[in-house]
Amino acid sequence: MDAEAIKALKGRYCNSLTDYSRFVTREVFIGDIPMGGNNPIRIQSMTTTNTMDTIGTVEQTIRMVDAGCEYVRITAPSIKEAQNLAEIKKELLNRGYKVPLVADIHFTPNAAEVAARIVEKVRVNPGNYADKKKFDQLEYTPSEYQAELDRIYSKFTPLVKICKEYGTAMRIGTNHGSLSDRIMSQYGDTPRGMVESAMEFMRMCEAQNYYNLVISMKSSNPQVMVQAYRMLVESMVAEGMNYPLHLGVTEAGDGEDGRIKSAVGIGTLLEDGLGDTVRVSLTEEPEYESPVAIALVNRYSLRSQKSKVESQKFEFDSKPQTHNPQPTYNPYEYVKRETYEANAFIGGHMVPRVVVDLSAKNLKDPAVLNDAGYLYNNLLDKYNMAEQSVDFVYLADSLPSFTLPGNLKQLYNYKTWQSLQSKTNCHPVYSLAEYVSATERDHALNLVKIKPADIESEEFGAIPLDKTLVFVLETDAVNGMQDQRGLFFKLQELGLDVPVIIKRSYPDSEFDMSKLGDITSPEEPISKLQLYAATDLGGLLVDGFGDGIWIDAPGIPTKTITSTAFGILQATRSRISKTEYISCPSCGRTLFDLQETTQMIRSRTSHLKGLKIGIMGCIVNGPGEMADADYGYVGAGPDKITLYRGKEVVQKNVSAGNALDQLIEIIKNDGNWIDPAL
Ligand code: SF4
Repeated sequence: MDAEAIKALKGRYCNSLTDYSRFVTREVFIGDIPMGGNNPIRIQSMTTTNTMDTIGTVEQTIRMVDAGCEYVRITAPSIKEAQNLAEIKKELLNRGYKVPLVADIHFTPNAAEVAARIVEKVRVNPGNYADKKKFDQLEYTPSEYQAELDRIYSKFTPLVKICKEYGTAMRIGTNHGSLSDRIMSQYGDTPRGMVESAMEFMRMCEAQNYYNLVISMKSSNPQVMVQAYRMLVESMVAEGMNYPLHLGVTEAGDGEDGRIKSAVGIGTLLEDGLGDTVRVSLTEEPEYESPVAIALVNRYSLRSQKSKVESQKFEFDSKPQTHNPQPTYNPYEYVKRETYEANAFIGGHMVPRVVVDLSAKNLKDPAVLNDAGYLYNNLLDKYNMAEQSVDFVYLADSLPSFTLPGNLKQLYNYKTWQSLQSKTNCHPVYSLAEYVSATERDHALNLVKIKPADIESEEFGAIPLDKTLVFVLETDAVNGMQDQRGLFFKLQELGLDVPVIIKRSYPDSEFDMSKLGDITSPEEPISKLQLYAATDLGGLLVDGFGDGIWIDAPGIPTKTITSTAFGILQATRSRISKTEYISCPSCGRTLFDLQETTQMIRSRTSHLKGLKIGIMGCIVNGPGEMADADYGYVGAGPDKITLYRGKEVVQKNVSAGNALDQLIEIIKNDGNWIDPAL
């Protein structure tokens, strides 16, 4: 794209909100593997070994490359590690691996200047490249602010010159948790602050005619991360820039939570057509990260790669909402779509509801509900609810031979519902045509299945509107998320505040079902379901769309569907049902075993619903890393842990053997502890 084409996008962050269209960026060369432009979306990851351990780092790098990693990042905390990158590179070449290496730099311009002569790319953090954080809240006059920028320019310029001379690329990698005092004082820890933090460095690079840049805006909160990347693109476009984007959710955690959180953030932006390289950060072995990133990215290789700039079919507006229901869409701020409350079942200010389909299960066995979060007690013949108990079960035309719990709503196809002798707790699901011509409707709740194209139909125009109506929004489109997003815009245009359950269907053909039951790699069906659903549903929830979700995946166990649905709601912060762990992926700076420690902390705190616990291998970026956590467990030195309450240090240098007990004591003293259920 030339400068004129970029400017034609002014005021936008993507080519289209309702169709898949990749935002074409400048091509940047990183060794032999170019990124951006029309190149494939690249996969990358980071080592967790000590950088001075040459053979350990080389062997881990090889495992990562064999798993699909195209660039490998290695930490360089000081000059000696930066120098050792040459040994690592040499050994990799000896073993036939030419993968481009990226040096990860925090605080140490001198290490960056060494590394930039050795590796293909350096990552700098604009929050700490030339700033030692003092955590001062200063007021800057315009001239003082400019003087700060001048100071940074003189510290940063030598690196830019070396990169130009050696053909080294650079990532300007902003992190929500490590913004400089200057940015914090001016913007707070906001998406705007993150964007400005990078833009200042980008302008300095351009002032020196250096354009070999890649940009990232990471946060452990997918909502913040999505808003920051979108705002970055809009800001770049306004200044005639189109640098490639490195996407990542930082400190995403492990297992299902880590995958879902990553997919909500990364997947949403991929749907927007943004992103040229992806790094999934998991608190797991680094070779497990690339398959997850590949599964996320591969969906888009099937879509049409439209590079032309399309007209945007729906305008968005970042001004405050003033009408009711809200008429505009703000991609830079979370605003929940306003809907009415349908008889205290769904919509309004209620948290999004969860629907699962049990119609093909054994409805003679009360224990069938265990996987939907209702634990059946055989002796007492009663159910216990859990934090992740679904709200509705869809039974289609199947009738259970036992009594379901009173707080669980049953959904039946219209004709079957009509024939029920007792309709208590039972509600009908109609096709649009059935609803329009129905001779009988429920007095409490009527669910009507629609697809986005239905809104143009005569039947839709004839739909009886009252506060029992809820739409179940389906889609057959390959670009289903944008298709469904388009429907939300149309409902807004029409001023319809009907609650919407977003339904996505994943037939067995989406996965290789022959492998089900033998889950050994993140490419297996369960992982794919988690990634796809988190992208498709998370991408709408993160913008405030949707009053409920329904994942329809006949080949996937109900238990997985239930936990995935609640995981997506948790990651989008729309319904909290469990403890959240913000754990870093670890790297060469790590001071304890992240995976083991995360499991240990989880085993004693996983019942503390709503609490966010940060688990960091080191405090490289200062207490800002705790921006999104209620409590923190952070490596301070060998066998030394520092404990945080938010950004406040509560206990320093506690021995690792006592640290978890001490953390629990702090939580108890704050009144935030409950005993686990027996
Ligand atoms: S917080 Fe974790 S990943 Fe980040 S630098 Fe420290 S140890 Fe490495």
